[in-house]
Amino acid sequence: AKAAGKDRVLPFDEQLRDQQLQRSRTAEQLRAALAADELAVHYQPIVALDGNRVIGVEALVRWCPPGGAPIGPDRFIPAAEASGLIVALGDWVLARACRDAAPWHARHGAGVSVNVSPRQLAEPDFVCRVHRALEASGLPGAALTLEITEGVLVGAGPQAELTIAHLTALRAIGVRVAIDDFGTGYSSLAYLRDLPIDILKIDRSFLPHSSDDVAGQTALVRAIVDLARSLGLITVAEGVETEEHAELLRRLGCDRVQGYLLGRPAPAAATAHAFAPELVA
Ligand code: C2E
Ligand code: CA
Ligand code: CA
Ligand code: CA
Repeated sequence: AKAAGKDRVLPFDEQLRDQQLQRSRTAEQLRAALAADELAVHYQPIVALDGNRVIGVEALVRWCPPGGAPIGPDRFIPAAEASGLIVALGDWVLARACRDAAPWHARHGAGVSVNVSPRQLAEPDFVCRVHRALEASGLPGAALTLEITEGVLVGAGPQAELTIAHLTALRAIGVRVAIDDFGTGYSSLAYLRDLPIDILKIDRSFLPHSSDDVAGQTALVRAIVDLARSLGLITVAEGVETEEHAELLRRLGCDRVQGYLLGRPAPAAATAHAFAPELVA
């Protein structure tokens, strides 16, 4: 079988080996960057449509090599996941985000959302790690949201069970759970009813990006918002770039919006001002 498929399989093998090599190189550099304190967390505002207030922020990690342009997470998170470095990196982001957000919560009641990868959720002491970040920062559990992708909750097996147990324990201290990029996975909808989640983040691909079939695109967003509401979940629309998007989402009853229209991810020092009521649209 190996010989028969040789000429088709080989290039793919090579490509795979190339990617693996690239990833382990990236992971090496990333490990050094973490030690050298070259990572930063930026924050993007999340706005409640009811009252047009910034009620929280999403923490988004950046790699800032000295003298170079910042590198976005899409270029290093996959390598961090493949190498396992994501556990240390994720701990660092969580600690930093809780520390930055503690004064924003104390002064403005704001919350912070942190992205958590499947590898982190599979750590046996994940709940302890979150507790430690909360305790060290003084941020209450109720001010923290963990963003996870739907895949980690779906499917039987010990992995999904462990994740569900972790999230259930964290929700007991007020931590909220958001499903990120909702609608882009391949899972069934039944899990929405049965699993420990609070928030649906509607992926930006569902917003109308052209004038083609706006009615069809609108119907899809409406269906997601209605589904979420009937299950008692909060909806957050991602990638809101235009007034038209915001208007549509308001009309459909979406709870919160996030996107370039409301604000780009920015360093903590700039984010502190995002909560001042006079600066909010
Ligand atoms: P995500 O969680 O879906 O985050 C939203 C991404 O969309 C961010 O990209 C954000 O900058 C971008 N975005 C926000 N508003 C708009 C908009 O109006 N239009 C468009 N086109 N894009 C918008 P970013 O910061 O490059 O992050 C990419 C992904 O990397 C994130 O997607 C998340 O999956 C992952 N990520 C970021 N930080 C972390 C982290 O600390 N841990 C883990 N595990 N993953 C992270
Ligand atoms: Ca996210
Ligand atoms: Ca997302
Ligand atoms: Ca995404």
